[in-house]
Amino acid sequence: MPGIEQARDGLAAALEARYGRGGDTPPLPSQVTFDAMVRVVLEEFLDARQAALAWEALVEAGLDEAGPIAEADPLELASVWQLAGLKPPARMGGVVRKLAMWLVDRHRGDPTALAEVGVDRLREELRQIQGVGPALTERLLLWGLGREGVPLDRSGYRILLRHGWIDPTADTDELRSTMVQLAQGGRWDDPAGDPRAALAAVGRWSGWMERVGREFCKPTAPRCDRCPLREALPETGPVEWDA
Ligand code: SF4
Repeated sequence: MPGIEQARDGLAAALEARYGRGGDTPPLPSQVTFDAMVRVVLEEFLDARQAALAWEALVEAGLDEAGPIAEADPLELASVWQLAGLKPPARMGGVVRKLAMWLVDRHRGDPTALAEVGVDRLREELRQIQGVGPALTERLLLWGLGREGVPLDRSGYRILLRHGWIDPTADTDELRSTMVQLAQGGRWDDPAGDPRAALAAVGRWSGWMERVGREFCKPTAPRCDRCPLREALPETGPVEWDA
């Protein structure tokens, strides 16, 4: 079985040929804004079109900054979206509000202040927000803040396991470093000097893994014969770890 280093360029080419370079992942934010953070949360609950409508509804209601959202009644958010013809899960408004409250309480409501905060501290703070789990934290870091987040959903985790790139005892640090190894040879700094290159590569791989998981790497029966990652399978096939 080729190691990650030997396999990754070939795999990236196969994945890009199938899914394109951008896939269906959000663009990296060019600057830190409350808008970008909230959109990541909205897209956790709604498809991209509905999430855009939900954000527009907030803007029209004057709820497009952290302060007003933090002070809003949860029912107010729900009614704004209802009037826009949306029926998001009840939990969505709560997470948006908690995110706004965190920004107000910890960072004076100023998204630009987050650029000065280290990524480890941001990760820790985001994880403490009620309703923001590990996966959403990584998405917020990468696609909300343009920082070193490594989004990986359950199917991505399954793929790493089945290829033997991690074992079931791997902790979140190992998961993240394995993904960074796949995407960018394990380094966040870019040899060519582009500070956003690694972020974009990790985002791309994250999107590709989600697509492969949906199409090929099903929980019960992987469909390896036509999968773009099949060249990197162990000789004996997908690794099946004991439950
Ligand atoms: S379907 Fe097979 S080749 Fe594809 S990611 Fe899953 S285990 Fe790997």
